[in-house]
Amino acid sequence: MRKSLNILLLQFTITAILAQSQVSLIQDQIQPAQVKAHLEFLASDALKGRDTGSAGLEAAAAYIASHFRANGIEEIESSYFQQVPFSTFSPPDSTYLMVAGEELKFPDDFIVINGRKEEMTAPTVFIGYGNQDDIDQADLRSKIAVSTAGDGFSDDPRDWIAHSRAKRKRIKEAGGVALLEIYQSSTIPWRFLRMIGTQSQTALDEGHENTNLPNIWIGTTDSLIITSLRDGKESLTLYMDEVERRQFSSANVVGLIPGSDPELSQEYIVYSAHYDHVGTGRPDKNGDTIYNGARDNAVGTTAVLSLANYFAKHPPKRSSIFALFTAEEKGLLGSRYFTQNLPVPANQIKYNFNIDNGGYNDTTIITVIGLTRTEAEEDIQKACNAFGLTAIEDPAKEQGLFDRSDNVNFAVLGIPAPTFSLGFRAFDAEIFKYYHQPGDEVSSLNLNYVEKYIKSYILSAVHIANRDMAPFWIEGDKYFNSGKELYNK
Ligand SMILES: [Zn+2]
Repeated sequence: MRKSLNILLLQFTITAILAQSQVSLIQDQIQPAQVKAHLEFLASDALKGRDTGSAGLEAAAAYIASHFRANGIEEIESSYFQQVPFSTFSPPDSTYLMVAGEELKFPDDFIVINGRKEEMTAPTVFIGYGNQDDIDQADLRSKIAVSTAGDGFSDDPRDWIAHSRAKRKRIKEAGGVALLEIYQSSTIPWRFLRMIGTQSQTALDEGHENTNLPNIWIGTTDSLIITSLRDGKESLTLYMDEVERRQFSSANVVGLIPGSDPELSQEYIVYSAHYDHVGTGRPDKNGDTIYNGARDNAVGTTAVLSLANYFAKHPPKRSSIFALFTAEEKGLLGSRYFTQNLPVPANQIKYNFNIDNGGYNDTTIITVIGLTRTEAEEDIQKACNAFGLTAIEDPAKEQGLFDRSDNVNFAVLGIPAPTFSLGFRAFDAEIFKYYHQPGDEVSSLNLNYVEKYIKSYILSAVHIANRDMAPFWIEGDKYFNSGKELYNK
């Protein structure tokens, strides 16, 4: 009895010493000068805000890959770069729509989602939400399809763009010549859409077969026009000037460290952060036009680089994939491409530990979006505590942050995926002071806090990567069932 108690005590002590040694190893290896060096380069004016497709972002990609090379992180399929194909679409200079003898004006009444130089008059046909069933029941040949925007299930207009793309494909196959969608949403009012509609839009380039079909979103509240569109009796005239379309590629930067355990090394954890930002734009009151994105997301990129460095010297049991994503700011596009073109089978990826940052207003905490939604809550909490911080769950649920960063592309596959963020208790004025502003610079960062944040991320990763069982979704979570399906649980 006494003996076994002693053994138990000894085991306890060894575990405690091991845990302590990880903390002091991390303390020793995360050097403030190295952290600052990463941040200062990534958020420098020289990179001009790291816009997707810009030379500045390419320089950042080269920097990350160079750091991977220098620290012995392995390539996957003999490259650190996963090239992601994009196309940018700029609205036409001149366009109009004639419905029931009324001229609709761009961008007050409608915006152009897709198209090419065009002049057509054609009869219309209403197809509900434009699902396959709706389309099968209609005769679309040489007609303009009119539909309600969205799919009738998601009330988030950010999803509707993907629905539009799918509808265009179906309509083109059914012989239709254009798609008009009636936009009605309380989530994003038309006046915001109207603004977006005058700017160029970047999307994943998903081939040409359905890129040219004209696609218009109509925001007019004129009930006469809406009624005549819906009843499909009127012909409609659409005119569009030449549109500008640019194709380019931009890279996700990806590296690998094999796990140290013969069995658990078959399982992977993806440590991710987006390294792009919004580029240059409107000057602030100091005349600064460069949106440096120090918080968003040079901090996250630096944390993943620091972790890669640490794991290169102390590999955990599970294999590690480090993924720095492009085009997050364009709508989570780099991570979407990555999760559609994974380097290993999805069911071998047991966790995605993502980082993204808007800003912080409390340096005693770490805010983890999804902290309580996976079984890693305790692993993360203990790690933060070791550096004097407390982890809290997303306090600003109204912002829908879980579904607004790269982690969601993993979550929809069923992979547990929280986002580790600098501490905020509310999405308040202190956050908006820097969020997507030219003032989001290294000089306005509390570097002492950022170091503790990075160390907490590394220790959390150590815990997660060495667990006996990979952490899963908490029962009842929105993504719990997708996870069960993915891993055959
Ligand atoms: Zn971000």
